[in-house]
Amino acid sequence: MNALPPPFEKPPAAVAAALRPIRPLPDELVSQIAAGEVIERPASVVRELIDNALDAGARQITVRLQAGGVRAIVVEDDGGGIAAADLPLALQRHATSKIASLADLENVATMGFRGEALAAIASIADVTVISRTPAASHAIALQARTGELAAAARGVGTSVDVRELFFSTPARRKFLKTDATELAHCVEAVRRHALVRPEVAFAIWHEGKLVEQWRAADSMAQRVRDVLGAAFIEASVAVDAPAARPGTISLRGFAGIPDAARSRADQQYVYVNGRFVRDRLIAHGARSAYEDVLHGQRQPVYVLFVATDPRRVDVNVHPTKIEVRFRDGREVHQAVRHAIESALAHPRAAAGSTPAAADAASPLREASAAAPPLVLRSGWETVVARQQPLSLDDLSTLRVEEPAAPWPAASTPLAAQQAPQPAPAWPLGRAIAQLGGVYILAENTQGLVIVDMHAAHERIVYERLKAAANSVAMQAQALLVPCTFAATALEIATAQAEALTLQELGLDVTPIGPTQLAVRSLPAALADADPAALARSVLADLQQPGGASRAVQRARDDILATMACHGAVRANRQLTISEMNALLRDMERTERSDQCNHGRPTWRAVTLKELDTLFLRGR
Ligand code: ADP
Ligand code: MG
Repeated sequence: MNALPPPFEKPPAAVAAALRPIRPLPDELVSQIAAGEVIERPASVVRELIDNALDAGARQITVRLQAGGVRAIVVEDDGGGIAAADLPLALQRHATSKIASLADLENVATMGFRGEALAAIASIADVTVISRTPAASHAIALQARTGELAAAARGVGTSVDVRELFFSTPARRKFLKTDATELAHCVEAVRRHALVRPEVAFAIWHEGKLVEQWRAADSMAQRVRDVLGAAFIEASVAVDAPAARPGTISLRGFAGIPDAARSRADQQYVYVNGRFVRDRLIAHGARSAYEDVLHGQRQPVYVLFVATDPRRVDVNVHPTKIEVRFRDGREVHQAVRHAIESALAHPRAAAGSTPAAADAASPLREASAAAPPLVLRSGWETVVARQQPLSLDDLSTLRVEEPAAPWPAASTPLAAQQAPQPAPAWPLGRAIAQLGGVYILAENTQGLVIVDMHAAHERIVYERLKAAANSVAMQAQALLVPCTFAATALEIATAQAEALTLQELGLDVTPIGPTQLAVRSLPAALADADPAALARSVLADLQQPGGASRAVQRARDDILATMACHGAVRANRQLTISEMNALLRDMERTERSDQCNHGRPTWRAVTLKELDTLFLRGR
């Protein structure tokens, strides 16, 4: 007998498998494996079938569901149909009419191109395709399971009927949620398509009841309003950033004002060349555009249509094509950030503030369902002019001195002396009174405007400080004693690789050993900051997509915000009418003055019509 125990009680699975012969997987199993990647739930089927309908040129797409799509999903379109001879091919794996070569793939303009979806769906559900081309005298139905072809009745177009999803893969079926949840995902899948294709009409039915219907719209704005609601569009600004040069990136869409931000990121729709995507780079660029006006965990809302040369973006990264890869990520990040920033800087110039839109729900009304029938809202009627940057003298005055006059920074021609005239062109109107030491009441052509004077002034001072600081803040100021700190290998590598960027930011960070970095200079505007902490956060940001100057800018903006708060007029200070008017005019001139530095509104409006309603006049 051998005294030594065997090395393994049982050979591990890998060893056992190695003893088996290699065989190609059966076709059906390959399709089922592919289906596992592409079809996660009923909504995935809806997405794929609508992709196909759109690729076929449909103008009307109807989705009919049963049991949240688990029992049945039927998608009907009025597109070009499939020729009878091609019908069996449509269900074959890797059979597609959309691309034929690698060059086609680089330029792909259709939603589909992998030739996978129908085969995958047919491997995990009972599928029937009924289709008719304009040339055909009648439709043909193909039953995927049996391969049976039969004449059928329908107009030009295609219906794909999917029953008992996951019937053959019970493990997958077990992961499905309630019918209501699956239905919600299906509706969301249709919504994502509908937002980007306003010219196509959509209808969704569940258990024979109409759930959603979006008629063909003649503009993007109309479709966004139909799909996401009037409240969304009322609280958004238009984003419109054409390509700087032919072939570079362009952006259109709508970005919610900070007021409209939500606790969840559930209204962030991003499209790249017409395809809905989830992209970290774009999401990050968008979030950073809100950095200054949205504090904490609030999530901005937006619908963004990014267009770029198809050769500059790879859509074949993910089986469901929900992820893309850009050739130049930095360009995309900056373009998104700048487009949204400049849209937000000219508040309410476009989307929501037309008189016709005024009757629709406002975000405020949505926030408090039980509120009195008084509707408040904020918004510019006009695009405001840019504020002239302050001089450095203004900056230092603000920093050290308690203001003698209420508006130390309001070096505007209108300040103090000028008598207010009723000027209908002033969006924020003519000051009439101060309320509770906190609010300014003003009258404009529409009615009453209420301004939180501290919040508004704080914003004005802050924006000025930023404008002034932009020009000089990045100058380096040497430290008397270099600050050394323990650094990770990644931090040291980043400091070396990004030495030039750091220099541009006024930061001198150099390795002085395998585990130590030394900070020798800081940007002048941040001369008081903790050098090691600042260097660490800048290095961390440099490792982020498009990170570059964000950390310095954020730290600087924080300090400026604190300064602005000290420089701003305090509550409970009595103001003269002239001073109030000067503040209103300043607000009209200042970018982003709709929101204070903490993202709260600085002013609200109540129209005469709303006041009339409040007093039951004219009924
Ligand atoms: P892909 O969309 O990647 O080509 P699919 O498996 O989704 O792959 O579809 C296979 C083929 O079937 C398509 O290339 C197209 O020719 C045809 N097809 C599918 N759905 C439709 C439809 N609704 N209308 C017309 N043709 C369709
Ligand atoms: Mg497809």
